[in-house]
Amino acid sequence: MALAPTHLCTQCGSQVWPKTITPGSFLMELLLWLLFLVPGVIYSIWRIASRYKGCPVCGGKSCIPLGTPAANAIMAHLEVR
Ligand SMILES: [Zn+2]
Repeated sequence: MALAPTHLCTQCGSQVWPKTITPGSFLMELLLWLLFLVPGVIYSIWRIASRYKGCPVCGGKSCIPLGTPAANAIMAHLEVR
């Protein structure tokens, strides 16, 4: 993949390309649908509603764009360690 990372994860310090993360598991969703219909519907809605763009490395929710002062400050801090 030739794409350069666009974001910095403030939780693990990785330079990443944020990906859409859906919480929960598909298996759990399937099980709820088969056993109890209503919780299955609620679970599906919850999963879609709580989707977020996050770090593909650690799953952290706080990715900030590279090149911003905040990102530069964090990177400078990481290089010191
Ligand atoms: Zn991360």
